[in-house]
Amino acid sequence: MTAPRSIVIVGGGTAGWMAAAALGRLCVPAEGKVTLVESDEIPTVGVGEATIPPIRTFHAMLGIDEDAFLRATGGSYKMGIRFEGWTRAGETYVHPFGQIGTEIAGTPFAAQWLRARLHGGAEPLDHYSLEARAGEAGRFSRPIANGNSPLSRIAYAYHFDAARYAAFLRAHAEQHGVVRREGTVEHVEPGPHGVAAIHLADGARISGDLFIDCSGFRALLIEGALGAGWYDWSRWLPCDRAVAVPSPPDAAPLPLTRAIAHEAGWRWRIPLAHRTGNGLVYSSAHLDDDAAQRALLDAIDGEPLAEPRLIRFATGHRRRFWSGNCIALGLAAGFMEPLESTSIHLVQSGIQHLVRMMPPATPTAPAIVERYNRIMAGEFARIRDFLVAHYHLNDRPEPFWRERANAPIPDGMAEKLALFRAGGRIFREPDELFNETSWLALFAGQRALIDAHDPICDAISADLVSHRLQQIERVVSASLAHMPYHVEALRRLAPE
Ligand code: FAD
Repeated sequence: MTAPRSIVIVGGGTAGWMAAAALGRLCVPAEGKVTLVESDEIPTVGVGEATIPPIRTFHAMLGIDEDAFLRATGGSYKMGIRFEGWTRAGETYVHPFGQIGTEIAGTPFAAQWLRARLHGGAEPLDHYSLEARAGEAGRFSRPIANGNSPLSRIAYAYHFDAARYAAFLRAHAEQHGVVRREGTVEHVEPGPHGVAAIHLADGARISGDLFIDCSGFRALLIEGALGAGWYDWSRWLPCDRAVAVPSPPDAAPLPLTRAIAHEAGWRWRIPLAHRTGNGLVYSSAHLDDDAAQRALLDAIDGEPLAEPRLIRFATGHRRRFWSGNCIALGLAAGFMEPLESTSIHLVQSGIQHLVRMMPPATPTAPAIVERYNRIMAGEFARIRDFLVAHYHLNDRPEPFWRERANAPIPDGMAEKLALFRAGGRIFREPDELFNETSWLALFAGQRALIDAHDPICDAISADLVSHRLQQIERVVSASLAHMPYHVEALRRLAPE
């Protein structure tokens, strides 16, 4: 049999158009074809607005010009997430992108900072991160070549308008030969390898070699037709609803996503150039929809720019992301609340693994399918552990938060926490998205305490460590002074 010549993508939300843009450019043989089917009658979820730095690799892979993309999507820059009130009311910390500190005389910064902090000899972690400091100060710059300065390795991502992003990617995909077909899928025709064809309400039948299910929470192909099954994670992450509403833009937007804890969940605040995205994520067992909507409307700045929208969701993922000749991406594949802006990243990751494992023949070798499913399941689980840690390590008094602090936690997270407490050590698993720095920011921000410091620290005198910490802080402050304000960077992008 032959390599897939015809790829059919069902769904034109962020996932569908990301897949179309990438597969159209990278995966289709000369005589092949990518068709994307989307329904004008079924809206996209339209709320994925905050991203993390790997998205820049995805854009580079597609040859996307950053300025053009930001202009088209009302985008802004992002250097981390500001967590407000997650330990207790009034306390904040930043989970910054990029590196925090630098090695101290060959020993890890994290270990030395933890020792110094334990003995009262270090500033809060944010002081040693240029991205955290710049984010708080409303400053932004792309990396500036400047020797070994932190300015040369500034890490950043974006906020953007989800509907505009899909439109931007659509134009890109169509330039690379992707064919868009408007229509509503009514029936999925099974075939010997999984799906043979989809049937649209207007009577059309669209067949393909490979189907990408990007139909959102409906999961029309992967679940509706193929019954891939579902792992439910609500016992670990019980928030199951969000209410979202846009408000007027900030005059001087911070290059940070804000995640603000509330009595039964948290609220996001995402600054775009033309508006601010707001949403309240909550557990319906602890807060009713009317109360959630009131809480959100009370919290936003200015008048809402549209009616609030309620979104119900389930946390977990398909037992099989790839089944036969069908691969699910985006909300059809699984969902975790957007606390660390990971959903669009998981779409990207799924696409990149698919590109790497594109089946050379039909039917797909089971080894390819198994490998893909194993990798994606691992990525989901590692991210889940990171999210659960935010909830587990809290000191808030409300019933929702006490339940979260006392609820059982996944084994992977329990091990990470135990290793950290036993000696301030953090180990990154293969294929894990979040690195040691992210875990350190999380543990430090959520006030996880260590029982003892890593003995490697004792190789260096406490005085030398204290001196080096002060030096790092000075370098960060000096670098910060060189960075222009974020609002200026956005002004530069604004249409003339
Ligand atoms: P959708 O946007 O729902 O698109 C589904 C598509 O399928 C639509 O085009 C629809 O027309 C089509 N379709 C459905 N049924 C049919 C049919 N029968 N026939 C034809 N077409 C059909 N991610 C982040 O990375 N950062 C964030 O900040 C973030 N915030 C979020 C907040 C909330 C509350 C939620 C729920 C999600 C958030 N996400 C975030 C996730 C992000 O929104 C999604 O990962 C992303 O938008 C992908 O959605 P999708 O394309 O899979 O689905």
